Amino acid sequence: MQIPTSSALSQVWSRIHPVPIVRGEGSYVFDSGGNRLLDFTSGIAVTSTGHCHPRVVEAISAQASQLIFGQMNCMLPDIVSRYAEQLRSRTPDSIESFFFSNSGAEAVEGAIKLAKVATQRTNVIAFDGGFHGRTALTMALTSSKGIYRSGYQPLPSGVFFSPFPACFRYGWDEEQTVDFCMEQLRHLLKARTTAAETACIIVEPVLGEGGFIPAPTSFIEHLREICDETGILLILDEVQSGFGRTGNMWAHEPSGVQPDILVLAKGIASGMPLSAIGASDHLMEKWPPGSHGGTYGGGNAISMAAALATLEVIEEEDLVHNARVQGDYLKHQLTEILEPLPDTDIRGPGLMIGVELTHNGKPNARLTSQLQQACHDADLMLLTCGTDSNVLRWLPPLTVSRDEINEGLSIFEASLRKVALQ
Ligand code: PLP
Repeated sequence: MQIPTSSALSQVWSRIHPVPIVRGEGSYVFDSGGNRLLDFTSGIAVTSTGHCHPRVVEAISAQASQLIFGQMNCMLPDIVSRYAEQLRSRTPDSIESFFFSNSGAEAVEGAIKLAKVATQRTNVIAFDGGFHGRTALTMALTSSKGIYRSGYQPLPSGVFFSPFPACFRYGWDEEQTVDFCMEQLRHLLKARTTAAETACIIVEPVLGEGGFIPAPTSFIEHLREICDETGILLILDEVQSGFGRTGNMWAHEPSGVQPDILVLAKGIASGMPLSAIGASDHLMEKWPPGSHGGTYGGGNAISMAAALATLEVIEEEDLVHNARVQGDYLKHQLTEILEPLPDTDIRGPGLMIGVELTHNGKPNARLTSQLQQACHDADLMLLTCGTDSNVLRWLPPLTVSRDEINEGLSIFEASLRKVALQ
């Protein structure tokens, strides 16, 4: 598709829908041409309470007339500490205090800085297929697609990659895949970056941009064991998978693992820019005051108000439960619809569902793109992901209703018939 660009906008943004959007409400967005689109991208897992949830809008308006910004090194906006208290009561026990920033990448970068300064070690282990952002350091941690690194290398050094347990890709069962990945990780620690040099291991509990691949719980448990044995810190990047997206408040919850550092963003504030790094008080005490921060670091009172309202909406509307129930239904229906394409893997917890399309064991990026386009032509917005761009990702808002899921499914089914099953 030819994407029209405004002369005042960089063409570096790729875009699914070229017509300007003028309004959003719940699961829908409305463009300037009068079209209504079913938005199952949720701004890449950001607008989890739906577009312009009335409670969030109200909180933003009320806060805007009280205090818009209080710079954290100059003053302490009351709402920042109120939000931190609320967040602490919902995060794992190991997470006791927070540093706030604006984007996921900024928070990941801060988390790595904290790990390095706290351990006095230099290196980082990340996983093949991971995505952690687009700043220099987070690009160095990212390996989901070549385009995120290509043209920007060399990137910061001291980053080592280990295989992620992508069972479908390897063609092995969970146990065999996890065993292989742990063996590779132990080898990495013997041969390329010793524990004494390694500050942290960073992992997405559900690989996002890399293909919506959930890490088996045993993998997260094993990572915790290695970290406990070696003093390496375990950073869980829940930027995309957090805040109820997976049918649990946190995607790693079923493992029972306590992270050393938790990184949060996206669904945190229903679209207002905010991210958080959580750690134990003991760890945070090792971060020399003044050695990290930023003008907007933590102080945006309006984002905080939106985040507080988002937590309330998630709980009052039982959105974690809704994500689980609607997600199970969506996955079940997708499995039936996609039965004629047996080389398809449908996976992911809650409303973080990936549909990986292959043909004769090879990634089928062409069909993936045709399906995405056909759905878009029928006013259903879906994203793709995966190193081979052969995964369709389903990210409806956590507020999505059964009728809206059915609407999306019938568009998808008709699109599949059009492009693949004539
Ligand atoms: N970490 C994960 C797991 C992500 O999915 C993303 C963004 O997609 C990031 C970090 C970076 O977040 P941001 O785009 O807000 O910088």
